[in-house]
Amino acid sequence: MSRQQQTPTAAVSSTTSTTDLASLFECPVCFDYVLPPILQCQSGHLVCSTCRPKLTCCPTCRGALGNIRNLAMEKVASTVMFPCKYSSSGCAATLLHTEKSEHEETCEFRPYVCPCPGASCKWQGSLDQVMTHLMHTHKSITTLQGEDIVFLATDINLPGAVDWVMMQSCFGQHFMLVLEKQEKYDGHQQFFAIVQLIGSRKQAENFAYRLELNGHRRRLTWEATPRSIHEGVQSAILNSDCLVFDTSIAQLFADNGNLGINVTISMC
Ligand SMILES: [Zn+2]
Ligand SMILES: [Zn+2]
Ligand SMILES: [Zn+2]
Ligand SMILES: [Zn+2]
Repeated sequence: MSRQQQTPTAAVSSTTSTTDLASLFECPVCFDYVLPPILQCQSGHLVCSTCRPKLTCCPTCRGALGNIRNLAMEKVASTVMFPCKYSSSGCAATLLHTEKSEHEETCEFRPYVCPCPGASCKWQGSLDQVMTHLMHTHKSITTLQGEDIVFLATDINLPGAVDWVMMQSCFGQHFMLVLEKQEKYDGHQQFFAIVQLIGSRKQAENFAYRLELNGHRRRLTWEATPRSIHEGVQSAILNSDCLVFDTSIAQLFADNGNLGINVTISMC
């Protein structure tokens, strides 16, 4: 009986010591972890690299911050398994500090943000709340059913930066179609068209989308894997990893200032 009791006690205490070790690296200001390069105050207190530039003295002892590197703590930090930033949302991963930020970038427990382009909406939540949010807060977005639809952007000649957004429902999923117009410099405008799945990256890999502009004896086509709203479309637009065209091409395919983009979603 005493042996049965010892085993779980040992397991618990070893877990506690790992957590304790990580907690030694907690920043006293923001409670995030202090990771290498680790700088200490004159008395040896640590503060993270985000908080440090905002401080005039050590938050623990009020002493001078100085520029003293703590190499021993850096060595220890490289052996400690730190819990993921989203552990309170359910992520059980513990990682070396060198792997931590890369994991957190794609962590499935990272909250979803509102997928509408433009940074005006600050909503955050879980994946299964996204559609409810869109239906309540962004009522003006039209939804079309089917794998093959036309995304009609009206008044594409409107000046300045403009976003056109539409939803497409098929295969039991919801896709958000985005056409973004950016003014690069002096009247030179570029259009970016892209599709994102209201779903995880894993789910998005099961689909492909095709965007097609059709004009008089002309056709411009782009095919790719939809983005997940978890990664969003901004980085893809920045890297031109989407259908990109300028104003003159838009004019070739537009009709009275309206541009129809054929959107086809398929499973792969
Ligand atoms: Zn901090
Ligand atoms: Zn101090
Ligand atoms: Zn995680
Ligand atoms: Zn929103």
